[in-house]
Amino acid sequence: MKIQLETIPVWDGLKSGSECFICSLMKEAERDGIRYYLSSAIMTPEIRVETNRHGFCSKHFAMLAEENKAQSLGLVMDTYYEENKQSFYPALDAISSSSSPRKAEKGFSSLFKAYDERMGGCLICSRMNDRLVRYAYTVAALFEEDVEFNAELKKSKGFCMHHTRVLASIAPEALKGDILLEYYKTLAELLRKNLKRVQADDYYLTQKYKSENRDKPWNGCEDAAKRAVYKLIGEGAVIDPVRKK
Ligand SMILES: [Zn+2]
Ligand SMILES: [Zn+2]
Repeated sequence: MKIQLETIPVWDGLKSGSECFICSLMKEAERDGIRYYLSSAIMTPEIRVETNRHGFCSKHFAMLAEENKAQSLGLVMDTYYEENKQSFYPALDAISSSSSPRKAEKGFSSLFKAYDERMGGCLICSRMNDRLVRYAYTVAALFEEDVEFNAELKKSKGFCMHHTRVLASIAPEALKGDILLEYYKTLAELLRKNLKRVQADDYYLTQKYKSENRDKPWNGCEDAAKRAVYKLIGEGAVIDPVRKK
């Protein structure tokens, strides 16, 4: 598989010194996806065929709604609802004409089966996933090819648990043999060192709230509890990309 490298955003991400630069890049990818599906792109017939067919996961539907771009979202939702009719109305008709509660219950189960199918797959998650694969591949490729990147990564705050899983799963596509092993060990070492650091910061925060420590400096630990959460779960997660059949 030929994958386009994303050297510049990945290098910039590493230099940013964040808890997980893949999280930052993915939040940006998410914002770009939201912007795209509220832009003039949705006037294009091919794009509307896609939005009608796949739609979005519940998180991204909600994010689209919260942008308050009524006109663009209105168009998307109108034709999406039109396509819902084929999925929902046969079951609704079956419930209306049921001769027993049992039959009506079957109608509801087929209605919500259709609903779950309709809600499966998200175009924004798909766009995010394409980028995530390229970022993960680029981190591995730079680890091998760029001595400076390799050294900086080892000194960095590493990645969240969520993205470490992604990086480890994509690694064998980019690397083989000794360098692959070195990469796996680096990912593990980064976790070991940085989970410990985040916990120590979090502990410092708990101590700072004690009255006798009121006058001590925060040492950058004001947000340590929050960082402790996101170091585990990550941000900008890909939830439900459209599965290519
Ligand atoms: Zn992350
Ligand atoms: Zn989504």
